[in-house]
Amino acid sequence: MEDKNPSSDTIIFLGTAGARFAVTTQLLASGGLWLNLSGTEILLDPGPGCIVQSTKRKLRADKLSAIILSHRHLDHSADVNIMVEAMTQGGYKQHGWLFAPADALDTEPVIFSYLKSYLEGVEVLKEGKSYSIGNVSFATPIRHIHPVETYGMLFTTAEHAFSYIADTRYFDGLCHSYGGELLIINVVLLEPKPPIDHLSVPEVKRIITELKPKVAILTHFGMTMWRAKPWEIAQRLSEETGVKVIAARDGMRFELSQLDNSQG
Ligand SMILES: [Zn+2]
Repeated sequence: MEDKNPSSDTIIFLGTAGARFAVTTQLLASGGLWLNLSGTEILLDPGPGCIVQSTKRKLRADKLSAIILSHRHLDHSADVNIMVEAMTQGGYKQHGWLFAPADALDTEPVIFSYLKSYLEGVEVLKEGKSYSIGNVSFATPIRHIHPVETYGMLFTTAEHAFSYIADTRYFDGLCHSYGGELLIINVVLLEPKPPIDHLSVPEVKRIITELKPKVAILTHFGMTMWRAKPWEIAQRLSEETGVKVIAARDGMRFELSQLDNSQG
């Protein structure tokens, strides 16, 4: 699908399901985020169904410049192999990059070795590093607290900066690592549920209050979140924090140009 304005920044939510039960039942779709940033297309966290959700929306994998995995968990990486195959036109066109933490690539790689040769290259994500893809740069400021090696990202395009806070337990220093006009947060839980290493609504409220983005988008909902109606929670958080909070919907398309008109 050709974007009318190649310099515009767009995020498409291929799915909004998070963690085991919401994903295995496909009560909500899963599949990650499709980013079109200053004309560079990037796929983030291709969970189960990414190939279905993306082709259904006529998104062209051969236009992707990179696939990024925040971590190796199935709901973030299940479709990485098929998406590499699609990005490289079945391996006929060596093309694109894969970014992933070391533990997604080392002892038990999430990607088949024969598919790796289809790529231009693989880059290992590390704490405190920055990377560039086409017209976009992104940083992985801090290692999250999650059962496997996990990073969130701070993206910078020609016109915008936004953060993606991937799966993590809440910890001091999480907020300070992120910023930008837009915050996308994976919020699996309604209430904290130790020892589960996922964010819950009260913690997300704290993060939004501290970072004060122009807009915050909640996604990656677990069952407790879904039952509590994420759009109602988003409404309540908007009132409580003074920040515009949106609950993502399957297939939702967010234009970052919307941020240019809203007040900070
Ligand atoms: Zn996870």
